[in-house]
Amino acid sequence: FLKVSKKKISYEDGKEGILLILSDITFLKKLERVRSDFVANVSHELKTPLTSIKGFVETLKDGAIDDKDVAIKFLNIIEVEVERLVRLINDLLYLSEIENAAMPILDEKVAVKEVVLESIELLKIKAEKKNIQFDIKVPEGLEMNIYRDWLKQIFINLIDNAIVYNKENGKVWVTLEKPNGMVVIKVKDTGIGIPEKEIERIFERFYRVDKGRSRKLGGTGLGLSIVKHIVELYGGKIWVKSQEGSGSEFTVTIPIKKKADPHQ
Ligand code: ADP
Repeated sequence: FLKVSKKKISYEDGKEGILLILSDITFLKKLERVRSDFVANVSHELKTPLTSIKGFVETLKDGAIDDKDVAIKFLNIIEVEVERLVRLINDLLYLSEIENAAMPILDEKVAVKEVVLESIELLKIKAEKKNIQFDIKVPEGLEMNIYRDWLKQIFINLIDNAIVYNKENGKVWVTLEKPNGMVVIKVKDTGIGIPEKEIERIFERFYRVDKGRSRKLGGTGLGLSIVKHIVELYGGKIWVKSQEGSGSEFTVTIPIKKKADPHQ
């Protein structure tokens, strides 16, 4: 995209001319596009549960409320949809907090094992429902200079996915290693896996391999993009190896000492 602007100029000998300025605004246009796609996606994601809530409320008012069993069923659906909206809004706020890392970055010395165990504790009930076993290996005394909440968010999002997209009686491995100046985090599962052609896209905001399935399971489509943002803020990387039908392994690498850089 080129933007053309004109400017009148006068020369020393009194003659006048016009200066044509051509600017390449491809990048700005792209940015505009990304932003408007994002707004469209957010609106759609908010509208879907709202439309469903409205529908059930109307049906209740139209008489369904008189049948107690039906009424309870509808109220439960409404509750699930409201919970999803809350999760979505929380994820959006989280994403914007990370993106506008103008906020002072609160790095601190963090005992990593403690954070891993806390994250798993939060997801325990979800894992128990599917009878999923954990195998956790974290070096004793491992410390990182990082914002504790963000490190916890990395574990929660990756482990949550490893449970949600796993099979009944499946397994989740959380392994941490500390080779030369890096912390390497691996979260592996025995789940449904990710088709090869989708792998590149799953870190995009709102991208899901199976939209219906992710929604039904309570997903917002923002978990991995939040993880990627945090990891990149610390100069790290994230990637995944996956085999459809047998499982996935997410790997995150973060340099140990590096301070978060909001300009990354
Ligand atoms: P969601 O809220 O949908 O889980 P995420 O950003 O966390 O959003 O993940 C994006 C998509 O990547 C998911 O909808 C799912 O299709 C896929 N995905 C993520 N983690 C896994 C995993 N461990 N196994 C299989 N698919 C996964």
